[in-house]
Amino acid sequence: VELPIHEAVLGRAAEYGARPALVDALTGTTLDYARLDHLSRRLAAALAASGLGKGDVLALHSPNSVLFPVVFYAASRCGAAVTTVHPLATEAEFARQLTDSRASRIVTVAALLDTARSAAQRAGGITEILLCDRADGHRSVLDLTAEDHPDPAPEIDPATDLAALPYSSGTTGAPKGVMLTHRNIATNLAQLAPVMANGPGDRILAVLPFFHIYGLTALMNAPLRNGATVVVLPRFDLRPFLTAIEQHRITEIYTAPPIVLALAKHPMVEEFDLSSLRRVLCAAAPLDAGLAAACARRLGLPAVLQAYGMTELSPATHVVPPDTARPTTTAPRAAGPPPGAVGTLLPSTELRIVSLETGRDLGPGETGEIAIRGPQVMRGYLGRPAETDAMIDPDGWLHTGDIGRTDAAGWLHVVDRVKELIKYKGYQVAPADLEALLLAHEAVADAAVIGVTDDDGNEIPKAFVVRRQGAALTADEVIAYVAERVAPYKKVRRVEFLDSVPRATTGKILRRELRARERNSTVR
Ligand code: ATP
Ligand code: MG
Repeated sequence: VELPIHEAVLGRAAEYGARPALVDALTGTTLDYARLDHLSRRLAAALAASGLGKGDVLALHSPNSVLFPVVFYAASRCGAAVTTVHPLATEAEFARQLTDSRASRIVTVAALLDTARSAAQRAGGITEILLCDRADGHRSVLDLTAEDHPDPAPEIDPATDLAALPYSSGTTGAPKGVMLTHRNIATNLAQLAPVMANGPGDRILAVLPFFHIYGLTALMNAPLRNGATVVVLPRFDLRPFLTAIEQHRITEIYTAPPIVLALAKHPMVEEFDLSSLRRVLCAAAPLDAGLAAACARRLGLPAVLQAYGMTELSPATHVVPPDTARPTTTAPRAAGPPPGAVGTLLPSTELRIVSLETGRDLGPGETGEIAIRGPQVMRGYLGRPAETDAMIDPDGWLHTGDIGRTDAAGWLHVVDRVKELIKYKGYQVAPADLEALLLAHEAVADAAVIGVTDDDGNEIPKAFVVRRQGAALTADEVIAYVAERVAPYKKVRRVEFLDSVPRATTGKILRRELRARERNSTVR
């Protein structure tokens, strides 16, 4: 049977009853499953009574909180789609998303109300702004749950009706509205269920944002469907993050590479008891195998479990199954994930590796563009038919723009994005490979690589390096370090030191910001 997303997730909420569904890590505020279900029903009834219905779009603009899922499932019960907005979006970015998505309502938090109001004014078409938390003189979703209205009963077709309209991260260009149906999201949950394997008794720390499809699926929908407890943190700072793991005896964390980097290298980690952790997942950007191993070793775990996906894929296609990396009382399993593998293919999903040169299918061991077909492939980009057609071919294959290869056992390895490859005199250099190598240097706290043009017009790799506190490291040392370890065409040929590498909330390196910085400095 096909279910709309609120039923796919909350179908067993009554059975889970008084078990904690969501806990605020900082305030301790707790919602049990019965209350989560109840509040989302009451809010749906009130929203429907005020006119929210099928085909409408509600903009949810909030950091992680225990009420975030209440609003999400309430909108879904009304037949409306939720467009999740980055809490740090500027007024202009927010307004652009409101206009593009044709949202009619905003749910925000008191601290962001001014931005939301200005964005609404700029975009037009917003009939109501509600708060997720409370502030004097402004209506909150909790006020609405106290009203008494009949339950909405929209007719939802899970195959075509939108549940969510997240925007892609905007790493490579302007963010695009991704149309995800109830079927897209619910089937991806079902595909993940056997491999994600969390359940009652698991406590999951939600520090990556719910507004991004990674958090929405892995930190909200999946654990709430499985009866686990989600402990929410509104943002990532290392100390509160580690404190939350210790205090709440967290069993699973979902991370992006910068968090793995901190867990592997930061001295603060030693101050905390992290022995409750049984699984550490990482996705969203390339993760160096050596760094992953160092993190796992430090936490006493067999491996960091990677996953691969994108907003357009609801989001996952590959996951490293936990049973290949779970500590057992018996001997460690022989067939663990090979270093660097992002996972094996989820059920009912097809994978092709397509040659960038010839467009032909490649076999194991050969590197090309990753193409995916399956029920999790998005309906399309909202209002961008040409861009949709450029990505999804007539046979339903989505061409990801990522480069990868499979090994003989079927594990996928991701190299980098096609667009980020540096072409040095006809050779292709993946910045992610060089970044991994730089991060392995003990004096390097963080690093990013882009292609820049030298005086002869050649594209050459340039490294931006953040030194570890107190470490002395010169540009010549960086160049020599890399040159000793890679083929000559891959050498880093320029180095600049920075205080920090620009990154998106999900940890992705914003290489376009580095390119803009480069343009500005050469104009001068
Ligand atoms: P935009 O499409 O707007 O430029 P984006 O591609 O960063 O932004 P997302 O959908 O958030 O938007 O990210 C998906 C991308 O993240 C993938 O295409 C891939 O490049 C990268 N990615 C995800 N998981 C992994 C992984 N395990 N290893 C390497 N890269 C990954
Ligand atoms: Mg993308």
